[in-house]
Amino acid sequence: MKGEGLKIVLSGPSGSGKGTIVQELLKDGNYKLSISATTRKARTGEVDGVHYFFKTQAEFEDMIDHEQLLEYACFCNNYYGTPKAFIDETVSSGADILLEIEIQGALQVKRKYPEAIFIFIMPPTFDELKSRLKGRNTESDEVINQRLARAREELMLFKEYDYIIINDNLQDAVDKVIAISLTEKLKSSRYKAFIEDMLQN
Ligand code: ADP
Ligand code: 5GP
Repeated sequence: MKGEGLKIVLSGPSGSGKGTIVQELLKDGNYKLSISATTRKARTGEVDGVHYFFKTQAEFEDMIDHEQLLEYACFCNNYYGTPKAFIDETVSSGADILLEIEIQGALQVKRKYPEAIFIFIMPPTFDELKSRLKGRNTESDEVINQRLARAREELMLFKEYDYIIINDNLQDAVDKVIAISLTEKLKSSRYKAFIEDMLQN
């Protein structure tokens, strides 16, 4: 019984390791990543259409006006949003879709797809978060400080999520997302059609 794929939302403070965990999960053939649109400038090495769809503000607002986004939010002065069509196509094909998005967007997804799974990725300590953000070397000190301030606000909203994963050891964190996916797939609510079909034969 394959059924529809899972919609898995991963949030957590910037620098907690969401992107790194996602890259590991993509090595497992059944996960697909939702590629977001953003008005943020590409970092060195980021490729349009692979890491993000990089948009101007006017282009992004056009996507909003044409209802192409499942959700969107403003994070540290840039827009980020999830293109809708790819999500529906992916879960219908039976693959599990990963949405790596911040909390305002996650709450919009929760309203639209209450069956989605919400996982909050935490750093082991705040100091480790700071050193990961600095070590990543992708943002100025000013932007790092904005992101750390936002991290405190996000941490307070942890109860909105179904699961918490502390990303201390990367492989353990990846294994936990896989374990959650497997458990969710065994829920009795996913077996209604399968059992009804069996009873008819
Ligand atoms: P996010 O996507 O949440 O902003 P990243 O995946 O970019 O975070 O990770 C931030 C930094 O922390 C990166 O330099 C990454 O290599 C590092 N990192 C991720 N997970 C771990 C871990 N478990 N232990 C140590 N460093 C990690
Ligand atoms: P970054 O600039 O580090 O790539 O991402 C900044 C924040 O935006 C992260 O918390 C990331 O999860 C979030 N983000 C990325 N894509 C989306 C999206 O499509 N929607 C929302 N709401 N947040 C996103």
